[in-house]
Amino acid sequence: MSIRQRLYPESGQVAGLVEHCHHARFVFNIGLEQRSMWRRDKHLRGPLSVPRVNAASQMRELAQLRAGTDWLRAGSSSVQQAALRDLDRAFMNFFAGRAKYPRFKRRSDREGSFVVRDLSVRRLNRKWGEVAVPKIGRVRFRISREWAQITCASSARVTHKNGRWHVAFTIPAPARFEPGTGPAVGIDRGVANTLALSDGHMLQAPSLTKFEQARFLRLQQRLARQQKDSQRRGKTLEALVVLRGRLENRRADWVEQTTTALACTHSVVAVEDLRIRNMVRRPKPKPAPGNPGVFLPNGARAKAGLNRAILASVWGRFLIRLEHKMPEGTLLRVDPRNTSLTCAVCGHCAHGNRESQAVFQCQSCEYTAHADTNAALVILDRALNTTTAAGHAVPGRARPVTAGNANQLAA
Ligand SMILES: [Zn+2]
Repeated sequence: MSIRQRLYPESGQVAGLVEHCHHARFVFNIGLEQRSMWRRDKHLRGPLSVPRVNAASQMRELAQLRAGTDWLRAGSSSVQQAALRDLDRAFMNFFAGRAKYPRFKRRSDREGSFVVRDLSVRRLNRKWGEVAVPKIGRVRFRISREWAQITCASSARVTHKNGRWHVAFTIPAPARFEPGTGPAVGIDRGVANTLALSDGHMLQAPSLTKFEQARFLRLQQRLARQQKDSQRRGKTLEALVVLRGRLENRRADWVEQTTTALACTHSVVAVEDLRIRNMVRRPKPKPAPGNPGVFLPNGARAKAGLNRAILASVWGRFLIRLEHKMPEGTLLRVDPRNTSLTCAVCGHCAHGNRESQAVFQCQSCEYTAHADTNAALVILDRALNTTTAAGHAVPGRARPVTAGNANQLAA
């Protein structure tokens, strides 16, 4: 758990913070490369055998590296060591099946992060606090949460993204929510409705306004035409970053509110297992008339790409947060195959059941419902019974979430 507060570095402090981000990224990446090579070569025997690489050996080598590298030594050793701890945690999550294999961090002046250990914070007044950052000094942040909670933190992560700085204080995880006692619910995710609940509710994630969306597309087109490294391109990028940040904040709020509401209301929530990915359909190709095999631009690509990316990110974050908030074993994941074609009442599964994008009508029993609601009911049914409505046992369909497989699909 963490409390994220907006950081307001003075202009003289920004360069130092960016520097810390670069060092943390450098150390993380070099450590990752070393571990990957070791994993590749560890089976080698004899003269080629490689010494074991782990957190301890990497810490020692970091000290040697610093001794021989002036620019690294100029940075903060605690920030660089924390980057190795980050890497170690990433590997632990990977080994526990909670995350994918760690990935290299990309070099960027626009985003990055690093961890501050041995935290020291000070309150200036009601609205402002200061956090001590190694080699930089005290950096001001705006207090929007209870001060007592912030002082519980023992470390914090400073992040730079979308032109803004934040500090996330790591605090002990709170007790889980009072578990909901209400009925079990199934959730289907979609494009038209972000989430459809089996009780008929439709939940819509906020997006950019029409005006903002048009601007976003215009900016993207402009960006494609502009010369690399030109000043104008930089301006366009900045404008895009602002829009994206706005959207991200809106979505993040929505995810928090929705997952809390769900966890407090329902005793069991059933969702699709994301590892079988089949997100948003691509826009239909538009064939050029009288020219077989040639396609006209269908105009939908940029927009579809945007939508796809946004939906994917919302769903991932939604599941992670729901997982945090639901008691263990009450978030069930099921095989998502054919949920949109299967009848929730009789289990009949056919393409013809799908009257249209929005309407489901069973060809066998004539059950009619909103297509997404029907899918949510099927998901719930699979989770609770691990049998289809038709009575076919499907062993292993519903997989209660345990510490072992938690977050697996978040990766
Ligand atoms: Zn039916």
